[in-house]
Amino acid sequence: MSVEDVDAAVQSSHAAFLKYRTVNPRVRAQRLLKWDTLIREARDDLAKIVVFETGKPLAEAYGELDYATGFTWWFAGEAERVRGTVSTPSAPGRRVFTVKQPIGVAAALVPWNFPIAMILRKVGAALAAGCTMIIKPSPETPLSVLTLALLAEKAGFEKGIINVLTTDLDNTPALSEALCRHSLVKKVTFTGSTRVGKLIAKHCADGLKKVTLELGGNCPVIVFDDADLEQAAAQIGALKFRHAGQACITANRVYVQSGVYEKFTEIMTKFAKDLKVGHGFEKGTTMGPVTTPRGLDKAKQHVEDAKANGARIMLGGQRMKEDGGFFFEPTIILDATDKMLVSQEETFAPICSFFKFDKEEEAVQWANNTSMGLASYFFTKNVDRTWRLLENLEAGMIGMNTGNSSAAESPFGGIKESGYGKESGKDVAVEEYMITKTGTLTLA
Ligand code: NAD
Repeated sequence: MSVEDVDAAVQSSHAAFLKYRTVNPRVRAQRLLKWDTLIREARDDLAKIVVFETGKPLAEAYGELDYATGFTWWFAGEAERVRGTVSTPSAPGRRVFTVKQPIGVAAALVPWNFPIAMILRKVGAALAAGCTMIIKPSPETPLSVLTLALLAEKAGFEKGIINVLTTDLDNTPALSEALCRHSLVKKVTFTGSTRVGKLIAKHCADGLKKVTLELGGNCPVIVFDDADLEQAAAQIGALKFRHAGQACITANRVYVQSGVYEKFTEIMTKFAKDLKVGHGFEKGTTMGPVTTPRGLDKAKQHVEDAKANGARIMLGGQRMKEDGGFFFEPTIILDATDKMLVSQEETFAPICSFFKFDKEEEAVQWANNTSMGLASYFFTKNVDRTWRLLENLEAGMIGMNTGNSSAAESPFGGIKESGYGKESGKDVAVEEYMITKTGTLTLA
């Protein structure tokens, strides 16, 4: 589709909103649960689509679906728990009410890396609130989104409650801008890179629209010498190499205390060596390709830059299977420094870069030395330090002895240039799709 199709989609979503906003929250919840059931029943088909679209291994596609249906389930519950307030103000003889109402048509612009989860995290909250939603999927992954929309219709969401605008790479900027600027679009939620997130914020600024931005990562991990190294390696390995490193909350920079640096990097090198890279449907595959040619170029550039600046490449560092796939070797880079691209940007590839540190303060300072603030992780057995780091690390989400902290019931979102607004979690996520009206009543 192109920019000319935007108005028809928005008009359809607006017409649907005028009806849907009056639908009782219990009915919204029931439809969300029905949708949830249909998605679970279509699990095998959806997992296949995700493998074909993204390249991730089948087991990971199932993992994404299980994570994603957490959102439909969770937001079905949230639909009925939206509450206003009643209070007695300082002025005598008065009562003050706050009333929550759905904001209107919402637009969701989403990336290709978790095409099912990124959609359900947004649409679940919007539909629970009583909003309708227009989804603009990534040109790389339209089919999973279209399948979800089809199942939503089967679940009883009438036409127009969810609209999907598929497009190609060339039409994406203009179509997205038109969608963000349309006067009937009242809320925009974007997940993607910081560069594009800033453009989206500008498009929305003229209309002073409510915006949620879930942007890039460059997430640090700190491993202290008192950590359970085997446990830490299993967590960091899964975090780093899931979807070949193409997750916003992936481990980008791993700081290891000098006393355990050699031992820990050996364990991690073994972890990476044992990965079986291949097609997502091949039995035993534990890592797929990077999804886009752009991603492949960036991976090569980061390895070359690290080498040129004195890093040791312990494992990998090359593109594999030059016969057409975008496979990249699981890569371990040692002795990285803050002068290298692997430290300054999110690598978004199966490249794990290790930095050596001595003191806690030094590690925290390096970890925070980025414009990003999505997630940070650390591994230690020291309780005092755990509390200090929770308070001192500059990120919206902190993983403590875990690399896996994202779930429907927990608020998800970053700070600094990783964006603003929260998705998932109690109250906060649905709130992003609502307005609050204050009513003041004088009693007779
Ligand atoms: P991207 O910013 O290139 O694209 C995201 C969306 O914006 C897509 O729908 C894309 O088609 C659209 N888009 C691209 N160029 C545009 C333009 N000029 N104007 C308007 N829209 C445009 O990001 P990507 O490559 O699809 O995804 C990877 C990025 O997403 C990484 O930076 C990653 O960290 C981030 N991400 C963040 C989260 C999070 O929750 N914080 C989750 C997943 C991915």
